[in-house]
Amino acid sequence: MSGPREECGIVGVTSHRRAAEWVYLGLYALQHRGQESAGIVAANAGNALARRGMGLVAEVFDEASLERLEGTAAIGHNRYSTTGSPTLANAQPILVNYRDGFLAVAHNGNLVNARTLRTRLEDAGSIFQSTMDTEVLVHLIAASRQPSRDLAVLEALDQLAGAFSFLILTPDALYAARDPYGFRPLSVGRRGETIVVASETCALDLVGAQFEREVEPGEVIKVTPGGNVATLRHEPADVECMCVFEQIYFARPDSVVFGMSAADARRGMGRELAREHPANGDCVFSVPDSSNAAAAGFAEQSGLPLEHGLIRNHYIGRTFIQPAQDVRDFGVKIKYNPVTSVIKGQRVVIVDDSIVRGTTSGALVRLVREAGAEEVHLRIASPPLRHPCYYGIDIPKRSELVAAQMSSDEIAARVGADSLAYLSFDGLYRAVGARDRHCDACFSGNYRVSVEPGIDDKAAFEPTIATGIPSPLGQ
Ligand code: SF4
Repeated sequence: MSGPREECGIVGVTSHRRAAEWVYLGLYALQHRGQESAGIVAANAGNALARRGMGLVAEVFDEASLERLEGTAAIGHNRYSTTGSPTLANAQPILVNYRDGFLAVAHNGNLVNARTLRTRLEDAGSIFQSTMDTEVLVHLIAASRQPSRDLAVLEALDQLAGAFSFLILTPDALYAARDPYGFRPLSVGRRGETIVVASETCALDLVGAQFEREVEPGEVIKVTPGGNVATLRHEPADVECMCVFEQIYFARPDSVVFGMSAADARRGMGRELAREHPANGDCVFSVPDSSNAAAAGFAEQSGLPLEHGLIRNHYIGRTFIQPAQDVRDFGVKIKYNPVTSVIKGQRVVIVDDSIVRGTTSGALVRLVREAGAEEVHLRIASPPLRHPCYYGIDIPKRSELVAAQMSSDEIAARVGADSLAYLSFDGLYRAVGARDRHCDACFSGNYRVSVEPGIDDKAAFEPTIATGIPSPLGQ
């Protein structure tokens, strides 16, 4: 699949001699969550230093720049923008100095009331430096009249609505917070006295930190030197809204998110898909890498041999030179190459995790047919994607989502597949657990957390924004 992108990965490390190095490694593991910019703020004896840059983690940092980020606590951020434009001014973490010292903030998610809060803050004299919704939290903390920083952080977080996982670094503590609905994942790991908080557990694995637990929905934890972790508050909403797209696509398969291995969840989706929509094929393969586990589950359930029919090139830099002459499907060809010996003369079943605009699917089907496939059957390990996301994932507006415009058969005809079928909601939740604990608004149109009008232009295409919480699930 190519289309929806997760906007951010965050990592925080405390009580480590070279905290920035571990944050760097954590960001490296979370590179899939954002490739637009990367940044680290490191804290050293009451002072903080930031380095942010455009591009991949390995492009933004080198040994010398990491050396300069001295300190025993640090937070970092990988960004793929969903709010604010892709400029360095919008790279995170945000770092400011105010009357209580420095304040650094890294955010994953999307605040649905950012516009209202920003207007109120600007009316009261705040001067914003970026177009990011994240900056409102900084201003809210700085403007708070609470007698302690703990209370100021809690008061500021109280005013936010939407999807967020935050890391907030101050001279004496690291705060980690998850919104009351638990849209985005956030995990805590430990190695000795060193505490690591990260969007996904794959970041903990890389630095050898042992997973301890997730930050719970509505929980704010405070990490202080010596590996002390205290819950400042735990006030979950009445309903949970864990983003089901994390399990379908965003999280790395080797991560455990929302208490479940993403690889297991996807394998389960593949099995359910094979049960619901078997295909007359000779072999099955994935669109690597995001649907590998789903294809394995499909093969397991269907008894079809699992093959590697498409090979993905992992080394496409941002600067590769486009051919001067038009090459049909170049964008897909540069990424995937079909294995002719696997495909030729075969009825192939291709498992993908989702379809966004349908352009990639069309190009893939053409590639596979050119490699000699007799028949091409597409199986999608999620329900049809029909709505935008207001909770931090960059999904195009409805007019660009092919499943919002066409039936499965029409999409099959458009992309040139012999058949195409999607996983049902029932099948999805048999694989990932209770539906009422998840958000699936981009599939169902059921926005369980209200969104302020005009949150973005996509709203013009979306008639079903809920005005309250919760509403009955389903479509
Ligand atoms: S709308 Fe879709 S992508 Fe957005 S939070 Fe809900 S499930 Fe995730």
